Amino acid sequence: MGFRPDGECDSSSFIRKIGPNPAAPLTASIFETVAATFLEFAQLCDALASTTKKLEKRAQIADWLKTLSVEDAARGSLYLAGQAFAETDPRVLNLGGAILSKALAEESGASEAAMHEAYRRHGDLGAAAADLLLRQAGKPVTLTLAQVEERFSQIASAKGPSAKLPVILELLRAATPLEAKYLIKLALGDMRTGVKQSLVEEAIAAAFGAEASAIRQATMLKGSLPEVVRLAAAGRLQEARMSLFHPLGFMLASPVDSVDEAVARFAVEVAAEATGNQLSVDEAGSSSKLDLSFIETEVAQSVLKEAQVEDKYDGIRAQLHCGDPEQPGRVALFSRSRDNMTAAFPELIEAFASLHLPVILDGEILAWDVANSRALPFSLLQKRIGRKKVTDEMREQTPIIFMAFDLLYLDGELMLERPLSARRKILEEFARNHTDSVRAGFREAHTARSQGSLFSEEIADGPSRLVLAPAIVLSSAEQLDQAYMDARNRGNEGVMIKSLASIYQPGRRGLAWLKLKRELATLDVVVTAAEFGHGRRAGILSDYTFAVRDGEQLRNVGKAYSGLTDSEIAELSQFFKDHTVEDFGYVRSVEPVLVLEVAFNNVTRSDRHASGFALRFPRILRIRQDKPVAEIDSLARVEEIYASQPELIRNEELSQ
Ligand code: AMP
Repeated sequence: MGFRPDGECDSSSFIRKIGPNPAAPLTASIFETVAATFLEFAQLCDALASTTKKLEKRAQIADWLKTLSVEDAARGSLYLAGQAFAETDPRVLNLGGAILSKALAEESGASEAAMHEAYRRHGDLGAAAADLLLRQAGKPVTLTLAQVEERFSQIASAKGPSAKLPVILELLRAATPLEAKYLIKLALGDMRTGVKQSLVEEAIAAAFGAEASAIRQATMLKGSLPEVVRLAAAGRLQEARMSLFHPLGFMLASPVDSVDEAVARFAVEVAAEATGNQLSVDEAGSSSKLDLSFIETEVAQSVLKEAQVEDKYDGIRAQLHCGDPEQPGRVALFSRSRDNMTAAFPELIEAFASLHLPVILDGEILAWDVANSRALPFSLLQKRIGRKKVTDEMREQTPIIFMAFDLLYLDGELMLERPLSARRKILEEFARNHTDSVRAGFREAHTARSQGSLFSEEIADGPSRLVLAPAIVLSSAEQLDQAYMDARNRGNEGVMIKSLASIYQPGRRGLAWLKLKRELATLDVVVTAAEFGHGRRAGILSDYTFAVRDGEQLRNVGKAYSGLTDSEIAELSQFFKDHTVEDFGYVRSVEPVLVLEVAFNNVTRSDRHASGFALRFPRILRIRQDKPVAEIDSLARVEEIYASQPELIRNEELSQ
């Protein structure tokens, strides 16, 4: 197959089995590898999209990788995972739907109406491109993976849309319709082939005769599929060392509804840990299967001593990387969905740039009330999400800090395998030593206010940007109850209960971390409008605006699109098409006949809806076919729930 068992590559066997490639240089000797075309990649993607079977997908990818040179296998693996550049590579294409649509319109000559029609048909710009460029089918196949890499590099370094557009056009011009489809999907990072990075990792293992776990570990450390392919091909996977500036997976928590359930679940986890056999939420069963009477026992009380309790903050989960001596001053922040959020928080970047010790911290970015040392409402942070530029005014209005609750890497050592108790000690020491050095860039209003005048110069000795999340070890269920109430009174969502013995499991939602937060009461509401979704839900009425009663009137109070199954949504879509009152194109007002039960995190004041309120994070719990519209909840009930929330949460209205 081209790879000897010792991992060394046998170059002669890299000669491709496919016919002569027009893109291959004329001077290529017979020992040189034929460059892989982007068309074979696109054809493979189409084949992958057409099967749901994971094993089949993995085999198809592995078979393809085996036919490629190492460098093409490196590129191919990256592109199959839907990435234009490796995670550790700071370059980004920075291409959105707008510029790609423009390029597509120019290259295909399609009218605006034809563009809309094609997009509506597929809900996907890549698939629309294949349709629109169809009359160009039969073009010669010239584009290679290497050329795509080269063009991507040019696009990344071109500043602004006008500099990027000509390069995109060149790419599209060289592409057949099927290639254009996947170029656009790749540029948007939305392949829809049902292939996750983990599957590509497994395929690399199969292609190169390596252990899947070794490939997984190397990708976690290096954050670069191409590098891992090179290491695998050379049989040097064991040499992979951690590189900063690519996100590790985040460890997640499982929800519990009550203190009792938390204690019972925790006992299951502690017992499982003792036997080295950790359970997932599903395996452990729902709370109804747990014996809650158990919590009365002494054993249950002592189990709590194995746990650490922290407030559950309502901010933005983030992984902070900094301190690499080879890249002095570089700081990166990654979101739970692995997005790079660095540009949205310049004050954190300025502050942590002063650290010279390589570290990865796990924590929550919070808007911060400096005077009272507590978090401000999430809505103040919301403006920052997805921002590339942050104005001085935004910085002055809302102080931002990083609340650290875990430490994943320090000075050459990955800490994931250490128990939380050990990681916590290291984190505490880190905070003791470095909190003072991350104070840069404070020019927020709190400093100005506290000095009785408004000015926005930088205050060198402002508060630190690094705050260590307080953690306590409990000794009774009552204390947990109290900790929960205290957290709520501080304006936080609830508490996190973490097993002190647990290792950090990237990407895992297990029982070692539990989250306890109160669900507000649910509301029964009626749907008043339905909107077409995007992507997979194109052409389907999947977003529902809903209302509560106010005397004889209905007042909208929110909009939800999550919580229902695909088949329920398909049914509702048809139902609302049949019960449309007015069709406004993307949205339709509908007869107010269908009742939904919705859950939500908070109620805030808002002028977005006629009720004067909005539900935060609404999700549909079920369709209440059993409930007549006359019995839905009232505006008075919404006001009541609003008033029952802690003051800090009520105050969110200020920022809306
Ligand atoms: P949820 O979003 O309800 O699934 O809850 C999980 C989220 O809680 C995480 O992604 C974090 O953003 C957040 N969180 C807040 N405080 C903590 C904490 N002390 N430890 C871990 N996660 C936390």
